[in-house]
Amino acid sequence: MDYDYKVKTAAERAKVEDLFEYEGCKVGRGTYGHVYKAKSKASPDSKEYALKQIEGTGISMSACREIALLRELKHPNVISLQKVFLSHTDRKVWLLFEFAEHDLWHIIKFHRSAKANKKPVHIPRNMVKSLIFQILDGIHYLHANWVLHRDLKPANILVMGEGPERGRVKIADMGFARLFNSPLKPLADLDPVVVTFWYRAPELLLGARHYSKAIDIWAIGCIFAELLTSEPIFHCRQEDIKTSNPYHHDQLDRIFNVMGFPQEKDWEDIRKMPEHQTLMKDFKRSTYGNCNLMKYMEKHKVKSESKAFSLLQKLLTMDPTKRMTSELAMKDQYFLEDPVPSQDVFEGLPIPYPKREFISDDDNEDKSDNKNNANTNHSDQPPQKRVRVMPPVTTSSSNMVSGEFQVRKHVHNMQSGSQQQGMNFSSSNASQGSASSGYSRF
Ligand code: ADP
Repeated sequence: MDYDYKVKTAAERAKVEDLFEYEGCKVGRGTYGHVYKAKSKASPDSKEYALKQIEGTGISMSACREIALLRELKHPNVISLQKVFLSHTDRKVWLLFEFAEHDLWHIIKFHRSAKANKKPVHIPRNMVKSLIFQILDGIHYLHANWVLHRDLKPANILVMGEGPERGRVKIADMGFARLFNSPLKPLADLDPVVVTFWYRAPELLLGARHYSKAIDIWAIGCIFAELLTSEPIFHCRQEDIKTSNPYHHDQLDRIFNVMGFPQEKDWEDIRKMPEHQTLMKDFKRSTYGNCNLMKYMEKHKVKSESKAFSLLQKLLTMDPTKRMTSELAMKDQYFLEDPVPSQDVFEGLPIPYPKREFISDDDNEDKSDNKNNANTNHSDQPPQKRVRVMPPVTTSSSNMVSGEFQVRKHVHNMQSGSQQQGMNFSSSNASQGSASSGYSRF
C-alpha cells in the first residue's frame, strides 16, 4: 500500500478510546466478546451506548461485508449497529450499538425470584402482548430482508429503559452467530456445557441442515410461553450437550412431553428428516399419549380458549411448513383484542427491574447460574455464556439476490477513511475473502 496514504488514513481514523468512555463499565460478556456501557466524550451527546469488543483479532472479508449489511438494517425493534471501529494497533474489532437497560432474561429472572419469595409472580399480560408483538414486528422486518436471526432467546431480546424509546423491544445479536464463528474461549475452557437447546426447533434437533424463517418462529413461540408462565417451556438438563451432532434425545423428549409425539398426518415430511430413523428407534409414540400443549398451558393457568393460547399453538406447530409466519401472526386476533399492544411495554408504569450492573474483568456475571444449571434443578434459566457448536449450514447463497436489503452500501462506508486498512485485516483481497471465508448467505 502507498505509504503516504497509509499515514494519512491512520491519522484520520477515529479511535474508539478517543471517542468513548467505557473503562470499568463492562456489563456483559457473551460468546463473541465483551460488552461495555459507553458514553461519548463529545459533550452534546449524552446518550448511552453499548460497545462490544469482539474476542480475538482481525476480521475476514466476508465478515466485513456482513457487518456492512447489518449496518443497513433499520427498524425500531432491531438493535442498530451504529458504527464499527477497527483498531489497527491491536487488530481489535469494536461494534457500537444503542444501549438497552433491560433484557428478557433478566426480566423473567426477576419474576422467577418474586415467585420464589411468594410475591406477585407473572409478567403483566398486557406487557406480554406488547413484547410479543414487537418481537414479531422486528423479526418480520428481518425476514422480509432475508436475514434470519438463528439464535432467538430471552437474553437476545433487549428492552429499552427510561428515555425517548422507553419500553421498546430491540432484537439483538441478529446474524452474528454466522459472523463470528469462534467462541470467546475454547470449548474445553468453559464450565459445564452451556449451549442452550431450549429454543431450538424440532426440525433442527432432527438434523435439518438449513436454517429457515420457521426456526425463528418456533423460538418466538418458546419465548411467548415462557413470558406467560415464567417457566422455560422446553427446559432440559444441559450437562451432556457437548456435541456438534444436532440430534438431542433429551431435548426432543422434553418437547414431546409438552406437545405430544407428532402424528404422521400433522408432519408428513418428518420421515425425510436426517435423524428420523434414530427418532423411531429411540422413541415410542405411546409414551406421550397423554401429552399436549393445551394440558401444559392449562396447568400454568393459561386457558385453552384464550386468544393467547390460540396464537401460541400456531407458533409452536411441529411441522415447519405449517408454522405461522411473522406477518400472519401480527394480524392475529390476539393483538386485535383489547388491550391492544403498546409501544412502551411498561405502559408508563414505573419500571421495577434493576439496571444492569457493572462486572469486573475476571467476574463471570452468571457463574452462579451456570453452577445451578449444571445440576438438576428444573427451574433454572439458561446461562448467558454460551459455547457455539457447529451450526447447521445455511441455505444456499442463491437465495440471496441483489436488492434484498433495502439499501446496500459498500464496505468502505463501514468506517470513513479506513476501508483499505479494514480489508487488510484479513490480509486477503475481496474475492479471496468472500470465497474462502466459509460464510454463506441464506
Ligand atoms: P454474544 O452475542 O457474544 O453472546 P451478547 O450480545 O449476548 O454477546 O452480549 C453479552 C451481554 O451484553 C448480555 O448480557 C447482553 O444483555 C449485554 N448486551 C448486549 N448488547 C447490549 C446492548 N445493546 N445494550 C445493553 N446490553 C447489551
